[in-house]
Amino acid sequence: MSTDLLTVRQLAKSFGPLSVLENVSLSVRPGEIVGLLGPNGSGKSTALNVISGFLPSSGGSVTFDGKDISNAPVRAITDLGLVRTFQLPSMPHRMTVREVIKAGKRTDGGRFASVSFGADIDTLLEEFKLSHVAGNAASALSGGQKKLLSVATALRAEPKLLCLDEPTAGVHVSLRSELVDVLRRYVARGGACLVVEHDMLFIRDLCTRCIVLDRGEIIADCLPSELESNPRVVEAYLGKAVEKGGMVQR
Ligand code: ADP
Ligand code: MG
Repeated sequence: MSTDLLTVRQLAKSFGPLSVLENVSLSVRPGEIVGLLGPNGSGKSTALNVISGFLPSSGGSVTFDGKDISNAPVRAITDLGLVRTFQLPSMPHRMTVREVIKAGKRTDGGRFASVSFGADIDTLLEEFKLSHVAGNAASALSGGQKKLLSVATALRAEPKLLCLDEPTAGVHVSLRSELVDVLRRYVARGGACLVVEHDMLFIRDLCTRCIVLDRGEIIADCLPSELESNPRVVEAYLGKAVEKGGMVQR
């Protein structure tokens, strides 16, 4: 029997004639923080969208915690304990920052077994440096603060698997190591993470394994330390060099 928390098999996604994902197979085990990397347009967000139920797939299967969630409704997938954030989070207009985090918790009082992050609202506000804006409208936050708020809200749900789409984009560099610490603690307490990210320092600090997509296909599944010596990865990012702090984009 598989010990995977998430198993994606031969996933395909097309938009009309445009094939965006082809034969994508990957897994995330409990305790892992898996980086999903790749040049712009390689299909990372689309993969997260299909896995989390926000887009229908064109083929293949997704299994989460032993259950087939292929093309299941978002709500059913969330209830099983798979929670995700968006590359461009949008915030409700009439809710404060505190109310948004509060709403991350399941309202039926249920919790996802096995994860006990102990994510109370004040601790999350403090950890994500949002205490001073807790009473402000969430929609008035900066782009980076919205990113942090969306991660804090997702953690409030104490998910079994947290899927993050570029969590550090727009976030001040001084907060990135704090984000690494919070995510490590969450995983140490029973969680797992699939994270789309470009920032190589963040990836090296955080990820236990990396999967690299190029034009909708997986070209590497390796340790973060092996990325720079993988010719297919270097070629996909062109420029050959892996610049400090981020791979060169196409
Ligand atoms: P990444 O997150 O790796 O930058 P995306 O998954 O956002 O890439 O996009 C992969 C490809 O799919 C791009 O060519 C993009 O233009 C295309 N794409 C994404 N969403 C749609 C959509 N809703 N309709 C048509 N094409 C899309
Ligand atoms: Mg994207």
